[in-house]
Amino acid sequence: MLKTTSFASAIKSCNSLRTFPIRTLSYHPAYRPFSLHLSTPLRNTNKSARISTVNYRNFHTTSPRNVPIIPIPAAILALLKSGKLVSFVSLSSKTSLTLLPHSIFRRYKFSTKVFASVPLIGIALLLTVGLDQAPNTDRLRLVYLSEEEEMEVVTLEVDQLLGSQSGLIAPKENEYVQWLQNIADNIARVSVDDIRDPVREYDPQDPKIKSYDVNIICDSSTLNAMCAGNKILVYDLMISYLGFDTDMMAVIMSHEIAHSIQRHFVETHGIASFMLMLGDISRGLLWTVTESLGPYVNQKLNEWISGFITMETETTYNRGLEKEADLVGLMLMAKAGYDPRTALTVWAKVRLFCRLYIY
Ligand SMILES: [Zn+2]
Repeated sequence: MLKTTSFASAIKSCNSLRTFPIRTLSYHPAYRPFSLHLSTPLRNTNKSARISTVNYRNFHTTSPRNVPIIPIPAAILALLKSGKLVSFVSLSSKTSLTLLPHSIFRRYKFSTKVFASVPLIGIALLLTVGLDQAPNTDRLRLVYLSEEEEMEVVTLEVDQLLGSQSGLIAPKENEYVQWLQNIADNIARVSVDDIRDPVREYDPQDPKIKSYDVNIICDSSTLNAMCAGNKILVYDLMISYLGFDTDMMAVIMSHEIAHSIQRHFVETHGIASFMLMLGDISRGLLWTVTESLGPYVNQKLNEWISGFITMETETTYNRGLEKEADLVGLMLMAKAGYDPRTALTVWAKVRLFCRLYIY
């Protein structure tokens, strides 16, 4: 209750946002479609080739997203691209590696070949099925959850979070919720295209436009924002700390929407599953050698492997995803008409907050 009241008083103190800034079909002059240095060439610089590319893109109806790198029939891919595949490969590999030493010891040639092959075939299958190309940047990655599985997991997590914060969620008619909703709608509208495409006139009724549901959580102890599925959650401290500034909030919203359209949630799940499976296989292989060294050495070895996987997935890999969300978010906000240069101020302010209150 106290927290809600503090947000209400913060809202009252801000008089500059009595009318909502409606921006449509514009783009900021700072927008340079080809100025960001992504890892792949963005466009053929040959003039005639450029014209033919633009004409071609005008006629195709869907963006080339989530296309398997290795040509696999869609029906087979739909069956295989599932979290269950990772579980199946992991279980069968662990079982084979457990049985392998006994098979070698008893000199069963055929079963030795089978047990040794299962993990290798499993890894090859996972790499083939999971290999995917990220939209907007063409970065190669591993994705195992189907879109239905992703929606199921995300909906469950968001519902749990919103349920735990139910007394702190600002009502939909709140003018700041509508203000942020308007920013999200503007950014979502331009996200139907590849970020490297030039800005154009967007039809608000285009069925390809994904709608986002913005929620403000009135918890002045947390500086955070997140996007899961089609839900965007923004803590009120973020809004007041950034001075109720439209361009600054567009930086936050576009970064979060970029995470969503890049499907970073499933990517994190994919790399974690794959690394855990490799960890299990490594343990199985090492066990044949380290079994005689005793439980202490094996326990330390297990801890080292687990720590390495956690570090790679939760820090190193995640930093790459954050960087991609920053790049894609900057392009999105510029195409939607907001000033991407504001991002420098926003991230400096967030870093200052972290130094003062978190680290
Ligand atoms: Zn992020």
